[in-house]
Amino acid sequence: MYTVFKFGGASIRDVENIINVGDILSSYDSDKLVIVFSAMGKVTNMLEGVLEAYVQRNADPFIVLKEVKDFHENILNDLFDEKHVIFDEINNLFVEIEWVLEEEPNQNYAYDYDQIVSIGEFLSTKIMGAYLQQIGFDNSILDARDLIKTDNSYRNAKVDWKQTTSYIKNHVKEMHCITQGFIGCTSENFTTTLGREGSDFSAAILAFSLQAKEVVIWKDVPGMMSSDPNHFENAQLLQRIPFDEAIELAYFGAKVIHPKTIQPLKKKQIPLFIKSFLDPTSKGSEITEVVTTYPNIPSIIIKKNQILISISDTSLSFIIETHISQIFSLLAKHDVSVNMMQNSAVSFSICVDDDKYKIPALIVDLQYDFQVYYNKNLSLCTIRHYVEGSVNKFLKEKEVLLEQKSRNTLQLVVIDKDICSITY
Ligand code: ASP
Ligand code: MG
Repeated sequence: MYTVFKFGGASIRDVENIINVGDILSSYDSDKLVIVFSAMGKVTNMLEGVLEAYVQRNADPFIVLKEVKDFHENILNDLFDEKHVIFDEINNLFVEIEWVLEEEPNQNYAYDYDQIVSIGEFLSTKIMGAYLQQIGFDNSILDARDLIKTDNSYRNAKVDWKQTTSYIKNHVKEMHCITQGFIGCTSENFTTTLGREGSDFSAAILAFSLQAKEVVIWKDVPGMMSSDPNHFENAQLLQRIPFDEAIELAYFGAKVIHPKTIQPLKKKQIPLFIKSFLDPTSKGSEITEVVTTYPNIPSIIIKKNQILISISDTSLSFIIETHISQIFSLLAKHDVSVNMMQNSAVSFSICVDDDKYKIPALIVDLQYDFQVYYNKNLSLCTIRHYVEGSVNKFLKEKEVLLEQKSRNTLQLVVIDKDICSITY
């Protein structure tokens, strides 16, 4: 049975960390492994910068690309002899980007995004494959485009589970397979991506298809915490978490795992471990079919960069079902999902991630038929299993714009006073 490992960008952000990952993997040499890598360090963000320069023409994309090249070249120089074939292989991947940049931008931004940004994962898997081979950890690299089949919703592609399962079963045979996270492929062989931070989801897809023994996501934190240790001094490690609770935590914005990761694992009852690559022998968090979280304490999740959009009829008549259905068709059209919503007699409010491309287009569309107000620079704060008082300290510096309470969960849309800007 395979174990699926996923190493994110932080775990391979520089030579020291790459060597550490090599040490971890060497200690699992006798296990059957599928190893999923994200792009190194902040490379995905850097490639988004290349794309932005290319599409918006506000900078020379080749200069921005040079930074990405230099970043990888420094790593190659430290890891490999100058005659190693990896230098040519990496160069060829950059040539692929340069070919795109030499053409006029396609009208389809999301398509261009996937062709350019996906290269980050091809670079990292090539380098990791060659490095691991060099230290004696035999491996074969599989192209994720031969494994994960999707529709053509670029930047947020939907998986064709039936085809994907059969491709994965047919291709994954070797003892140690390496593949790219985040990437899929349409039936016409165009590269797609599964959404930012989607490599966790790739690991889950692979585990689901192979009926793996377990999945381990290697992070720079000890596991899933009850809150962000950078903001809450009493944050604690959650040692055991039921699948259903992890789904909720990830959905509400706990950054440790991508929200789509858990469902496929729950379906096949495959345990998920979140462990620290800085302390690989400690147990971390185990997400499995247990009844309650241990320790059973309130969890606080902060989702930043939220926008609260309030929508009302232009003649200020009641908001009725036809309005709501029209609003939701526009949300679907712009691929915007709602994190929280509330309605009053004359207005309907939604709190959504403030995506810099999708939201302005959504607002323009909404303004055809509605009056639209919005507040930017908000945070959505979710407290699972809250107890009165557990939020008082946190709320001290915040102004609450919207609040919703259920038996288990308290959600607040808040302004961080120092970063607030209200727009009408
Ligand atoms: N490299 C991609 C990103 O940073 C995917 C991932 O890291 O999971 O969003
Ligand atoms: Mg990443």
